[in-house]
Amino acid sequence: MPMSAEFAERLLPLLPDLVASYDTPFHIYDARGIVATHEAMVRAFGNAAYRQYFAVKALPNPNVLALLRAAGSGFDCSSAVEVRLARAVGAQAGDIVFTSNNTALSEYRLARAAGALITFDDRSFLKKVDELPETVAFRISPSGLTAGCALMGSAAHSKFGVPVHELAGAYADAVARGARRFGIHGMTLANELDTGRAARAAADVIRTGARIADEAGIELAYVNVGGGLGIPYREDDKPIDFTAYAEEIIAAKEEYFGAGGPRILTEIGRYVTGPHGVLVSRVINRCRKGHEIAGLDASMSSLMRPALYGAYHHISLPYAKGRPLGRFDVVGALCENLDKFAIDRELPEPRDGDLAIVHDTGAHGHAMGFTYNGRLRPAELMLTDGGDVVEIRRAETYDDYTATVRWEALARTGA
Ligand SMILES: *Cc1c(COP(=O)(O)O)cnc(C)c1O
Repeated sequence: MPMSAEFAERLLPLLPDLVASYDTPFHIYDARGIVATHEAMVRAFGNAAYRQYFAVKALPNPNVLALLRAAGSGFDCSSAVEVRLARAVGAQAGDIVFTSNNTALSEYRLARAAGALITFDDRSFLKKVDELPETVAFRISPSGLTAGCALMGSAAHSKFGVPVHELAGAYADAVARGARRFGIHGMTLANELDTGRAARAAADVIRTGARIADEAGIELAYVNVGGGLGIPYREDDKPIDFTAYAEEIIAAKEEYFGAGGPRILTEIGRYVTGPHGVLVSRVINRCRKGHEIAGLDASMSSLMRPALYGAYHHISLPYAKGRPLGRFDVVGALCENLDKFAIDRELPEPRDGDLAIVHDTGAHGHAMGFTYNGRLRPAELMLTDGGDVVEIRRAETYDDYTATVRWEALARTGA
């Protein structure tokens, strides 16, 4: 979906100067939009005991994390490096949820030392750890109505979570090992745009939590309903109604736990930052190869989603309005035929030198970048609330690319 009118109004007048000062391509994020989205989410839960933990993997730039922390957000981390990033911007005990999969003991220990709320992804792991955290939570393996959407894979082969019928036993094990506080975690969605379905999935987790707590004779301090809310990538997609989503969650909590009951946690990433970022690049090669092609100076090293999932990202040419429309493949420079931002996309006739904006890159964009083929990751900029532009990560260089090479080994490995 095209960037919000507010982001466009603030960004577009600055673009000519920005592309003169910073080489394209770069991602730029709207600080105001990110904070406003977080605040609206918190408002939607009203007086209910609720906290949102931003899924760090969506946009792991410390400048963005610091902004969210200042707005009261916690962090959802799934690796040791993400825990360290969260700590680096000041996250304290209780400000981190650690929801990992196939976890190494060392990562678990780091998360425990950071005072994170840890979700155990499998029951066997409980036996391996030397010391339990203060609060023990298990992840529910996806099953039933809401399991198995395309991005999550099939429920029968899910690698995530503890099967529902083993959960009560898992909590009993934890009790036997001395655990006294408990949470539960469930996440069965990915990029879900249907508000009703998202709310039913969350209600499912709450209902299962109430039943398991009853069976295991424990009290739940929190229910974490995960992330996975979608954003409207396509122009005709409808956004999630977050207020309705929150109201249904509150209603489900009252239905299954009565007044009071556990705190509700979310660990949402994409919905918070996704719409508030764009990738700015330039057309460098307009050519015809049976079909029309516009080659950008960005490639899938800056944004992997179209190539990886065939994901749709809106593309606009801000200075090409009024030109005749045509259909174009918009491609990157990688030696991979799937390095395309769009296939057969209707656009005003692009010309060499045109700026091209790829929209909705604020989540799982730069973060999924890579350096295959020596195509390096671009800079990240932030448009601050006050309207300044700050570089929050520079573009990678040859020196970064080779920083981990043991050049001195040439003496032993060279001919
Ligand atoms: C990826 C992930 C999230 C965040 O997902 P979004 O789609 O960005 O909201 C939250 N929790 C877990 C366990 C995840 O794997």
